[in-house]
Formats: sequence, structure tokens, C-alpha cells
Amino acid sequence: MNKLCIWDYKSTMKISTIGAGPAGCIAALNCVDKHDVTLYEEHKIQPVQCAGLISKSGLERLGIELRKGIIKNRIRGAIIVSPSGDSFMVDGRETKAYVIDRREFDHHLMDTAVDHGVNFVNKRVRDLDKITSDKIILATGTDYYFHKRLNLDVPRRFLTGAQFEMKIECDNNFVELHFNTPDFFSWIIPAGDYARIGSCSAKNPVPYIKNLLKKIKKDGRIKNPKILNRNFGTIPIYDPGLRTDYGRIITVGDAAGQVKASTGGGIIMGGISAKFACRRDYEKRWRSEIGKELYLHLMINRFLTKLSSKKMDRLFSLIGEHKWILEEKGDMDMASKVLSGLFRNPGFALKFLCQLPGYALDMF
Ligand SMILES: Cc1cc2nc3c(=O)[nH]c(=O)nc-3n(C[C@H](O)[C@H](O)[C@H](O)COP(=O)(O)OP(=O)(O)OC[C@H]3O[C@@H](n4cnc5c(N)ncnc54)[C@H](O)[C@@H]3O)c2cc1C
Repeated sequence: MNKLCIWDYKSTMKISTIGAGPAGCIAALNCVDKHDVTLYEEHKIQPVQCAGLISKSGLERLGIELRKGIIKNRIRGAIIVSPSGDSFMVDGRETKAYVIDRREFDHHLMDTAVDHGVNFVNKRVRDLDKITSDKIILATGTDYYFHKRLNLDVPRRFLTGAQFEMKIECDNNFVELHFNTPDFFSWIIPAGDYARIGSCSAKNPVPYIKNLLKKIKKDGRIKNPKILNRNFGTIPIYDPGLRTDYGRIITVGDAAGQVKASTGGGIIMGGISAKFACRRDYEKRWRSEIGKELYLHLMINRFLTKLSSKKMDRLFSLIGEHKWILEEKGDMDMASKVLSGLFRNPGFALKFLCQLPGYALDMF
């Protein structure tokens, strides 16, 4: 793994990172060159609550080289299915994303941190008063125990994600996004010899997965109805007002709500922020790097969740007509690239503006 070596404290500090998910490991790894870093993780084997889809460009941006066996599949595009069932395919024509074995990915990051000199302690931290470090990096995911105890900012909105692993018929090169939930979408992610079928919602997402399964069963796509694995988890919705730097304590990753609200993806965004964990201007730096993008993802999520199914159908049909823009400019992490591509195209922009009054009715 290329280390990013972004730090600016002059003297060596004792740093404790709590939580060895991607954000905690990347933060620890980026601090250990100059500092004495201890990484605490409560689990021996971390539970997986993830679809494991990460962009190729994001991984390159983090400078992470993956060891053999972590990548389960390569994805070059997406099939978008509107609420009425119409669909279009966005084909990036080359690998755009990886489907990873999330447990192996976390282990790899942890091993790399340890190889670089991070001290690993396998225990749950219960009391920060007992931690004598100069700096504490809270990378505790969606466990906001310390946030609540210390009165730190906690994201205000959450989604619940659920996912089944099953053997179904699908095109291994494409993920499927089915907009069959009121406040998010359901996904089918081919992971080699099985697929991850999931859904997210502010309410119980399981009925939406079941509806999707019913639909694909009708299409004859279920090879074997056995559910190989199930997992559930919480996704925080990005809140631009959240404070993440409290001097001695900073928050990073899901603990700081650094998650794309339109996709629920937090590995790359948390990782990008984590590389600034050792800077005095941590909050300023991560915001200047990805704050605008996270905000745009939030706006996309707000816009889509307010649209009626009919209007979403119309919008997707318009995007489908201009899908080549997504194929050329598509970026899973940087929403600005996609939006500027679409709105700089007069054909799309004009038609969108004509439809805008209809959308606005749903907004207010
Ligand atoms: C259903 C679902 C699907 C998802 N799919 C994707 C996806 O496809 N792509 C993507 O990018 N993101 C996805 N995400 C989001 C992604 O999983 C998170 O954004 C990511 O795991 C955040 O990493 P993190 O390091 O901040 O936290 P985590 O990965 O949650 O790690 C936090 C760690 O801290 C440990 N910990 C907590 N408290 C303590 C303590 N007191 N002492 C010691 N250890 C502690 C926990 O055990 C845990 O291992 C998905 C989430 C869900 C729920």
C-alpha cells in the first residue's frame, strides 16, 4: 500500500485509534511514520455489513493495492431500473468498480498497518479517560457510544440496510439498481458465483428485498432459493454541519458521517478523510477534499426521495436518453463530474428545465 504521509505535527505523539474498520486502519497507517500509534478493535472477526462495492478510481486515490483473493468481481457499469420497471444500461466499457470480500479487505488493511509498526490491541475501549494518548481518533463506525457520552456531534438521519447472498442469474459485469423503495434503492451486486441482493430504507428494508426477489423469481433468475448469508447494518446520512474535530479527539469514517447519501458508500470517502487524520487542520482538509462531493450526494438523495414514482420514471427516461454522458463522465464518488456532464449538455439541461416545474411540485 502506498502511504500518503500527510501529517504536520512536528513532534512524535501517542495516538490511539479506536476501531479497525477501513477508516481506522487508514488513519493509523497514515500516522505511524511519525507517531506512536495504537489501534484498538473489539472484534476478533469483524461482522460484515457491506455490499463491498468500491470504485477503482477511489481505491487508486487511496493508494491501496489489494492482495490476491480480495477482489471477487470486476464491474464495468450499471443497469438502472426505474420504479415502473423500465431500465437502461450504463456501460463504462472497462473496469469501473470492484466487488470485494469486505472481511478480507479489513484484515488486509489491519495487517498492513501492523506491518508498518502500528500496535494492535484486540479489545473494546470502554473508557476514554483510561487512554493517555495525546490524540484519539474515533473510527468506531456507527457505534456512537463515545459521541453520546462526550456530547460529540452524531448524524441525525440513518438508513437501515439489509442484504441477502444468493445464487441468481445476473450479468457479472453489471450491478443492478432497482428504485423500488421510497427513500433509497435496492441492489443486485454480482460477486462471482453468487450475488448480494440488498436494500436500504429509513424503515424496514426487508420487504423491498422480498419484492425484488419475487420479481426476479418471475423472470426465472433464481437458481437456488437458499439464502447463503444475511447481513444488516446502519448507514448514517451525511450532515454537512457535523463537527468532526474536537482538538484531542477527532471522528472519522461513519463515526463522522462521511458517507455518500445517494449510494450509502462510505469506504472510499471515510478513507480519503482518514488520510488527513494527523493534520492539525483535519476538518478543513477533508472538507476541502470531499465536502462538496458529499454535499452533492446529499442533494441528489434529497431530490430523488421527494419525487413521486411517476416523476422518477420521467427523470430516468431522460437520463437514459443521455446515458452516454454517464458512460463518459460517470464517477461513483465524485457526483460533481456526473452532474456537470449532464447539465453542460444542452439537450439534457433544456429538457430537465422543462420538467422542473413538475419536479418542484413534489419538492414543496
Ligand atoms: C448494508 C450495507 C451495505 C453497504 N455497502 C457498501 C458498499 O458497497 N460500498 C461502500 O463503500 N460502503 C458500503 N457500506 C458502508 C460501509 O460499510 C461503511 O461506510 C464503512 O464500513 C465505514 O467504515 P468505518 O471504518 O468508518 O467503520 P466500520 O467499518 O463500521 O468499523 C468500525 C470498527 O470500530 C469497532 N469499534 C467500535 N467501537 C469500538 C470500541 N469502543 N472499541 C474497539 N473497537 C470498536 C467496530 O468493531 C468496527 O470494527 C454499506 C453499509 C451497509 C450497512
